[in-house]
Amino acid sequence: NLSLKLEKAFQTLKGQGTITEVNVATTVKEIRRALIDADVNFKVAKEVTDEIKEQALGKNVLTAVSPGQLLTKITNDELTRLMGGSNEEIDLTGNPAVILIAGLQGSGKTTFSGKLANYLKKQGKQVMLVACDIYRPAAINQLQVLGEQIGVEVFAEPENKNAVDIANKAIKFARESNKRIVIVDTAGRLAVDEEMMNEIASLKEALSPSETLFVVDSMTGQDAVNTAKAFNERLNFDGVVLTKLDGDSRGGAAISIRRVVEKPIKFISTGEKMDAIDKFYPDRMANRILGMGDVVSLVEKAQQSFDEDEARRLNKKIRKNQFDFNDFLSQLEQIKKMGNIKDLLGMIPGMGKALRNIDVDDDSFKPVEAIIRSMTTAERENPEIINGSRRKRIADGSGTSVQEVNNLLKQFQDMKKVMKTMNKMGGGKRAMNALN
Ligand code: GDP
Ligand code: MG
Repeated sequence: NLSLKLEKAFQTLKGQGTITEVNVATTVKEIRRALIDADVNFKVAKEVTDEIKEQALGKNVLTAVSPGQLLTKITNDELTRLMGGSNEEIDLTGNPAVILIAGLQGSGKTTFSGKLANYLKKQGKQVMLVACDIYRPAAINQLQVLGEQIGVEVFAEPENKNAVDIANKAIKFARESNKRIVIVDTAGRLAVDEEMMNEIASLKEALSPSETLFVVDSMTGQDAVNTAKAFNERLNFDGVVLTKLDGDSRGGAAISIRRVVEKPIKFISTGEKMDAIDKFYPDRMANRILGMGDVVSLVEKAQQSFDEDEARRLNKKIRKNQFDFNDFLSQLEQIKKMGNIKDLLGMIPGMGKALRNIDVDDDSFKPVEAIIRSMTTAERENPEIINGSRRKRIADGSGTSVQEVNNLLKQFQDMKKVMKTMNKMGGGKRAMNALN
């Protein structure tokens, strides 16, 4: 029935004032759960949610979203910020620019070396690969196969057992043959060990790379942080590559690593094929980790389309008990501006269940609008003057029935009563604060 629909629509418009401990308690739990499920380190997940909640307390909730939804959006933005805000490029200065690739065995170093070479080659750069995994003949062969596939030269000396020596020769060769970028693929172990760390550290020392990238498998979850920490302590690397994001992993390691080692994630790897490489974009990753993209876009949509000045004006009128049918019409316009109402309500997972079951669509408002538009200015401002004959005239003019006009007038009266009570309880002031 129409009056129920209106009531619900008005509820969504009203918003709930500010973010408090109580009205976001469930959402905080949901967010923490989501982070932990996404493999964000437990301690980091707790710290981050506590910080975000602290920051968000007292924040004003605009109309059309719940405090929980707003908190979700704030969390999304904060996760984006925690991961660096925007993409950070790799440093390609030097003659040649040397990019050193480090990480555990199986993390995806060799595959990524090939991808990065391919990626840079496609940008028209002269690239060369260097095979410095001297322990496994198969590793050299693996890189050679990839090089052939993407048409990039691979420098290798299978008999040479000195990684630094190979790399130095490769750089000399690169200079002579006009290669501008040299990507050095290195050996890894199954776990962090002293010998591997010494070798990669001496490679870094000898080559002074413009970029040292630490490659880590996103599927290793919580372990990824410890590995990153160990590598960073010895290598002081410049950036992180997160691999195997094509799998089930939601990529929470991105947050933990960034927070613990304070180095930017620069690339992600999303498959075994040579083109499965992407720059790292914190906002996309935040969305993936939180897994609440729908809520985030709902809030963005509401924020974009909401006219704050108009809302402020309306709230002032509510406070002074001067809310009339013109204002009501303006509220309806605000709802309509936010787009298809069913879509909007449909985007709210879980918490919006109640609303979702209600049959509200843009058409629901058509008779209401028609009725209000059939009123004279005087009637809109002072609905009390709308007597029986005026009701008949309005019904005829709007193509509705007297019954529908009566319903709307009754609904409007009830609404004003609620507003009045809200004002008495200080709710009007709260609503007002919500807009400042
Ligand atoms: P390395 O030991 O660090 O050099 O690791 P590799 O590059 O040899 O990769 C180890 C395994 O992981 C290989 O089977 C790769 O094909 C696979 N791999 C590497 N990166 C990705 C990725 O982004 N997604 C998937 N699904 N597999 C990957
Ligand atoms: Mg390898």
